[in-house]
Amino acid sequence: MIALARKYRPKKFSDLLVQDHVAAALRGAVAGGRVAHGYLFAGPRGVGKTTAARILAMALNCERREAAGVAGEPCGECDSCTRTWAGAANLDVVELDAASNRGVDDARDLRERAMYAASAEGRHKVYIVDEAHMLTREAWNALLKILEEPPSGVVFVFATTEPQKIAQSAAPILSRLQRFDFRRIGPHAIAERLRQVVAAEGLAADDDALHLIAKSADGGMRDGLSILDQVVSFGAGPVTADRVREVLGLISDDVYGELLRVVAERDSAGVFPLVERLVDGGADLGEFVSGAGEILRAVLMANLGGKPEGFTEAMQTLIERHRSPLSAPDVVRLLAVLTELEPQLRASGNARLGVELLLLRWAMMSRTVELEAVIRALGKGPVEKPGKGNPAPVMRDSAVPPPSPAVPRTVSPAVPPEKGPLTLDRLRALWPRIVEDARREKPMLGALLPGVEPGAIDGTTVGVRVLDPVHAEGLERQREALALLIGRYVTESVRIKLEGVGRGERSAPRPGRLTEDGVRADRLEALRARDPGLDAAVDALDLELLE
Ligand SMILES: [Zn+2]
Repeated sequence: MIALARKYRPKKFSDLLVQDHVAAALRGAVAGGRVAHGYLFAGPRGVGKTTAARILAMALNCERREAAGVAGEPCGECDSCTRTWAGAANLDVVELDAASNRGVDDARDLRERAMYAASAEGRHKVYIVDEAHMLTREAWNALLKILEEPPSGVVFVFATTEPQKIAQSAAPILSRLQRFDFRRIGPHAIAERLRQVVAAEGLAADDDALHLIAKSADGGMRDGLSILDQVVSFGAGPVTADRVREVLGLISDDVYGELLRVVAERDSAGVFPLVERLVDGGADLGEFVSGAGEILRAVLMANLGGKPEGFTEAMQTLIERHRSPLSAPDVVRLLAVLTELEPQLRASGNARLGVELLLLRWAMMSRTVELEAVIRALGKGPVEKPGKGNPAPVMRDSAVPPPSPAVPRTVSPAVPPEKGPLTLDRLRALWPRIVEDARREKPMLGALLPGVEPGAIDGTTVGVRVLDPVHAEGLERQREALALLIGRYVTESVRIKLEGVGRGERSAPRPGRLTEDGVRADRLEALRARDPGLDAAVDALDLELLE
């Protein structure tokens, strides 16, 4: 059986997938007799650069052009077309791989050969130089001389995946070449083409299977067809998603579905069986992590109103099922953790532990927020009552319910946010996160913060500049809430002072009404400030300490 990638390689410009702009321009040039002496075909691998060069050579030397039907297209069937298409020995079409022909001797040889015109009147001599970025500077110099005074009927096509390297080593030659940029072929276009091939071959294949192949082909049509070949020759019967996964060693959708569930439901305990299932199944954990990243990205995209592409129907259903508890800001944070941990995962000798830690951090991430809520409920935080025009003292209101049995008394092991020293630079860097936290958990504060920026820091007092005086009143009521949010990221417990409003009287600390809870919270705050270890422990382990 002839390999599918070869059998279905395009024979005409119109067969080139996705590269319509290139096809139309080349076809027009051939039809109008305006073919250039030098072309640069740039683009990722497997998108049809060499194929397009061969079709150009075929079109220039086709013996039965009128049979093609469309002006500028080759017939694809005459002796000249067939030999060129097959890459067979051919007087008029020379294919060179620069990766192996890069020395000056070859360049000189090329130059000498180029001096000979095509084998017959009316024919073209076409040189196709693959991996052209591998040519040496000397080789380019020799080629430059040819292109300055090109013999008639000689055409050079340079194909490269790295045009910027040619720009570096042979900038003068670029101005003599007509450049075409080949586009990456999207998974939909690849799947569609695979469907045509499957039909033409009389094979049976599931849509999901073709989507998986298209995704694995990563933008290259040739790779897509090669994978289809492999899967077809792997066994009898229809091509199913499971068979594709088996041949390619891919991780099943179920596993990613379970991952989404664990993260969405914050089921930390579910992490260990999930990783065990992966390890037992012999999965590549690196592939799992990058697959997990892709799926979170798809969740993010779906939650922002986009439509993720290139997933199986089963996977899309799973994304739909689990995406609602994962708000866009949450997913951004999950992805940030992934980016942060990925290099360590790759370097670590213990991949399993690394993946477990990643998933645990994902599953636990939002618990830190709940923990803050518990601390607030214990009497530390302000009560948000919109006291219109009435500058009510910030209350440590005993009406806040004490921890009831329903509130988890121990939240363990929650991961506290990374704390560091209180400096202006750090605070400025953290500001977007603090604004984000506020938007999510304290909408009133969140609405005010875009008009606020961190100012001077004096000891543990953070000055905040209110850009619009209109917001000063509202912010005054939210000072403690803001102090708490900042407190998540700094080791000190901070106070907020408003700057840049009125005559400064607003920034005077307001008297707080003393309550038992308030006193207790203050005492605890002092203890925590003195002992960072205790601070972390209170956050992370045992809320009983608050008593
Ligand atoms: Zn022909």
